[in-house]
Amino acid sequence: TEIRKLDDRTVQRIAAGEVVERPASAVKELVENSLDADASRIEVAVERGGVESIRVRDDGVGMSEADVRAAVQEHTTSKIEDVDDLESGVATLGFRGEALHTIGAVSRTEITTKPRSADDAGTKLTYVGGEVESVEPAGCPEGTTVEVTELFFNTPARKKYLKTEATEFAHVNRVVTQYALANPDVAVSLEHDGREVFATTGQGDLQSTLLAVYGKDVAASMIGVDAAPEVGSEFPEGPLEGISGYVSHPETTRSSREYVSTFVNGRYVRSPAVREAILEAYGGQLASDRYPFVVLFLEVPAETVDVNVHPRKMEIRWGDEAGVRRQVRAAVEDALLDH
Ligand code: ADP
Ligand code: MG
Repeated sequence: TEIRKLDDRTVQRIAAGEVVERPASAVKELVENSLDADASRIEVAVERGGVESIRVRDDGVGMSEADVRAAVQEHTTSKIEDVDDLESGVATLGFRGEALHTIGAVSRTEITTKPRSADDAGTKLTYVGGEVESVEPAGCPEGTTVEVTELFFNTPARKKYLKTEATEFAHVNRVVTQYALANPDVAVSLEHDGREVFATTGQGDLQSTLLAVYGKDVAASMIGVDAAPEVGSEFPEGPLEGISGYVSHPETTRSSREYVSTFVNGRYVRSPAVREAILEAYGGQLASDRYPFVVLFLEVPAETVDVNVHPRKMEIRWGDEAGVRRQVRAAVEDALLDH
């Protein structure tokens, strides 16, 4: 066989498949963009699990016509300038400049946007299969709405790999829930096939966010966790500078781990070590194969986490994993003991 260089369109299609695996991955990127745009309200609405359509509307900073034209191009971002910015740490959720471009490469994407305090009309840009189809003025409120339809229309293999609508929606729900929990000061809502699934108030407290997302029975059973070197003298030494959030009473459980949400410096992270430490803290009080509801925020010094990992990677490598386990276990044990 001959080794040859792939043409640009093929390369683009392959790259798109890595960023956008399923509707939930597009939702994740769009919600991150809204958060980066300083939104105080984010409304997510999907049809048929997101396979039919995805709409994310925000009241963030918005884009000018020139901005939105640039935003859909490959590797365009307003969030970093160069490699020095990468080295010194990125404060935004995005920085690769790939999401809008790659979502648009495998769908029909319509972006309607208007910058804050702009007097003129907004802009509607339609992007189909990686090409700008039209750009026109549009009357719209300040902020940005991105609507994605015909997802994977030009990648039939990817489309075939999608699961049932219920499963795809479960992934979407999980993603939106995570961002809602991590951002109690943003009003986040989710709608599926025209029905509201949840809507947080954006009032800023985690307790009311838990109520909106998981309902009153779960919210009422949540026990506060608050551990830091200054707070508890028994807080073991280790990499974590603080642990806060809520864990449920041992009788309020589910048979799935998906309600164990852990965040490191505000980013959702899946860490088996942390999860095991949490479960250990319950010390046999959990029925077998039952998991508590957990929303825990771990704080580590910024320079100890590398953000330059793959967009879909939610894993984290700890330098001192044993130390993290000790700290998490102690913090959760301490919270459960008081109840
Ligand atoms: P990245 O988020 O890595 O910068 P994206 O492709 O997701 O890359 O977005 C490209 C650019 O488009 C962003 O840097 C930002 O300037 C702009 N943008 C995207 N979504 C929004 C939004 N919801 N509100 C305002 N600007 C946005
Ligand atoms: Mg982005």
